[in-house]
Amino acid sequence: MNSVVVRTLFSLFVPGGLVVFTTAILLYMGTLDKSLSALVHIYPYAVAAAGLLLGWRFNRSRLVFAILVLALADRALLYFSAGSLASAGMGRTLYNTVAFLLPLNLAALSLMQERGIITVHGIGRLSFILSQAVVVYLICRFPQLGLAGFFNYSLAKAHLLSRLSLALPALMAFGTAFFLLAIRFIRHETVLENGFFWALLSVFMAFAAGKIGPFSTIYFATAGAVLVISVIETSHSMAFQDELTGIPGRRALDEALLKLTGNYSVAMLDIDFFKKFNDRYGHDVGDQVLRLVASRFTQVSGGGKPYRYGGEEFTVVFPGKTVSETTPHLERLRKELAKTRFIVRGGDRRRKKPENPKKGGGPRKRVKVTISIGVAERNERYGNPAQVIQAADKALYRAKKKGRNRTST
Ligand code: GH3
Ligand code: MG
Ligand code: MG
Repeated sequence: MNSVVVRTLFSLFVPGGLVVFTTAILLYMGTLDKSLSALVHIYPYAVAAAGLLLGWRFNRSRLVFAILVLALADRALLYFSAGSLASAGMGRTLYNTVAFLLPLNLAALSLMQERGIITVHGIGRLSFILSQAVVVYLICRFPQLGLAGFFNYSLAKAHLLSRLSLALPALMAFGTAFFLLAIRFIRHETVLENGFFWALLSVFMAFAAGKIGPFSTIYFATAGAVLVISVIETSHSMAFQDELTGIPGRRALDEALLKLTGNYSVAMLDIDFFKKFNDRYGHDVGDQVLRLVASRFTQVSGGGKPYRYGGEEFTVVFPGKTVSETTPHLERLRKELAKTRFIVRGGDRRRKKPENPKKGGGPRKRVKVTISIGVAERNERYGNPAQVIQAADKALYRAKKKGRNRTST
């Protein structure tokens, strides 16, 4: 299988899918049976504390609200069901009402923009969540309102889905939420969006099993844990990944350089005449090209690892390699890039601007760029990474002086 496909599948499944399926397997096999009663007194509280703390410190209101929604749902189910799923009456109505509202809340939180916690938006959202709790209470407490019948409306016993012990509205709510989140999941929007998909699956497993009590609490806590992990991951990639190109950035480079031992080579790559390129095609097209060029750099052979050094400059680190060993790989990269025509969207700056420019619109265009490369290795003269980078920078300068689109050592 193509390595990009494998990497994409891996990033979709890990860690969210892994955590949810591990929980399901452990619960199904009874591995946790003995420790279950202790676990329900620690695990959900630890997740809630971590979620609230992270959400507050990193200003992730969606995490805070998701934890709140999960906790409310879990506590309500435990309180009204008294350990087992009621087949009728208030317990049953509550089960089906929560199973209807919870997936819709998770989907809505995933679709919402980050608007803070103690803000007008945040307080509005908080009030909406709490008002749902009041509505659920009223529906269950006063069946004469007639809404209980709606939430409990079930499929005929013969129907395959009737085995799931969920009423029809709840099933439809889960279906809608899965549909919405799956689209975002496939488009791989962000790590947190993937987290919401797996959290929804974990919650669904709790309801599908139809076991209220420690089982459902563990599934709900796992849903929260997946979201907590997603936020930690997002923060990590924000610190180490370059936002524009998605490849590792300067901080990741600095850390990687500290870990290097023995021989290594460092190459500095700089796009030729990029200022002119921006002047001609505009900054947006420049940004698109930076992304495309960066993704090319990730395909460099010879074990090189690319980083965005800053602006239109990139660094490729080759651990354990000398300059003469890396040069053929860099030359191949440079020549292939020079042959490539990148397809970008956007207007030509030199032409008249359209009356109503559309975002991301404009005609498709084939553009080309070349790069110059300077490469240096660790040796007696250049003993530490800073010196090797400086030497590579000097070599880059020579490549530019000699006419660009070449590699210098
Ligand atoms: P040379 O061949 O000597 O490298 O010429 P150059 O124009 O590429 O060199 P210079 O370093 O003078 O200019 C780099 C330009 O790269 C300046 C800036 O407009 C552009 N640039 C830097 N960062 C970005 C970015 O994030 N996006 C875009 N679109 N342009 C950028
Ligand atoms: Mg430059
Ligand atoms: Mg340049």
